[in-house]
Amino acid sequence: MRESQLLLIPGPTPVPPSVLRAHSRPMINHRGPEFASLQQELVDGLKGVFCTSGDVLILTCSGTGAMETAVVNVLSPGDLVLGMVIGAFGDRFAKIAEVYGARVERMEVEWGKAADPSRVAERLRRDKNKEIKAVVCTHNESSTGVTNPLKEIAQAVREHGALLLVDAVSSLGAIELRTDDWGVDIVASASQKALMNPPGLGLVSVSQRAWEASKKAKMPRFYFDIQQAKSFQEKGQTPWTPALPQMYGLQEALSQFKEVGLEAMWKRHARVAEAARKGVAAMGLKLFADPAYASNTVTAIHNPDGKDSAPLRKLLREKYGLVLAGGQAKLSDKIFRIGHMGFVGETEVLSALACLGMGLKELGFEADTQAALAAAHETLR
Ligand SMILES: *Cc1c(COP(=O)(O)O)cnc(C)c1O
Repeated sequence: MRESQLLLIPGPTPVPPSVLRAHSRPMINHRGPEFASLQQELVDGLKGVFCTSGDVLILTCSGTGAMETAVVNVLSPGDLVLGMVIGAFGDRFAKIAEVYGARVERMEVEWGKAADPSRVAERLRRDKNKEIKAVVCTHNESSTGVTNPLKEIAQAVREHGALLLVDAVSSLGAIELRTDDWGVDIVASASQKALMNPPGLGLVSVSQRAWEASKKAKMPRFYFDIQQAKSFQEKGQTPWTPALPQMYGLQEALSQFKEVGLEAMWKRHARVAEAARKGVAAMGLKLFADPAYASNTVTAIHNPDGKDSAPLRKLLREKYGLVLAGGQAKLSDKIFRIGHMGFVGETEVLSALACLGMGLKELGFEADTQAALAAAHETLR
């Protein structure tokens, strides 16, 4: 394996050297004063990134663990849940609720498109007896490269009164998300996407409504119990041994967020994503996502000539050290994806376009690399 690759998949994402260095600091007592101040600093920084003045809990798990935390702490078996499914991660969120005994009504849309807030509002208005206890929704669907209109969906949910649980694993820190202003009850995220860290930490914000619901929620939980997490956080600890190196890394990444500013981060992602999309289109490839809802962290592209993208991705990896993702689930042989979030910027996207163009040519496809670079450059200028 090469010592360094250009890792442009939708997570894990490349990590800044300063974050990697932070990981090598010595261990500390996780029940001692140094840990208490570390955790406090992280929680304060994360509140800024989540745009919340409410609670933020740091868990040791992947993003799916954070999604499971959202579900099991506020719901009971038998509860009716509306699951917005626009791709593989929306399907996963719905499955977690089902596994724990919720009755999940799936609102599906064709993959590549976003959920329609007016359809959500209409369904919730028909729920006269307030049977729907929660709506689970992906903010940025990494499997299709589509961002849901979360602000509008949240508005519909707030009018109804159900809880809104959001998977923001591939959007938090990169795409506008205003937890308190929009009224999102639990935002679930993770360290290895736009937060520029290795995998290992799950993160959740918890609203006052969610805390109230957690007192009555009957789904089984032990490791992911948020009441436990909160009572330990109040004394400067975590219930279980935390992933200390990951927390050192997060401390470093959050200081970069503070330096650059959250809105500047959102803008940078929008600019880099636009360069990726324009470049790919100018090259002659077809974008997969509905352009009105195209993601600023993942670009999904139809496979050239409808062929499997595996040989192309193999060549890019072996020859150029460029790692791209294939499709997931029913899109596995239909699309491939470029991840551009966190530490990934303009240089990486320009390099990826150049390598992609060369790789396509080598495999005998049409690809206009010059036009791709010119289009991306025009956007970034
Ligand atoms: C990466 C990702 C997840 C979490 O996956 P894990 O492998 O559990 O970290 C969840 N949702 C979305 C939208 C993602 O992109």
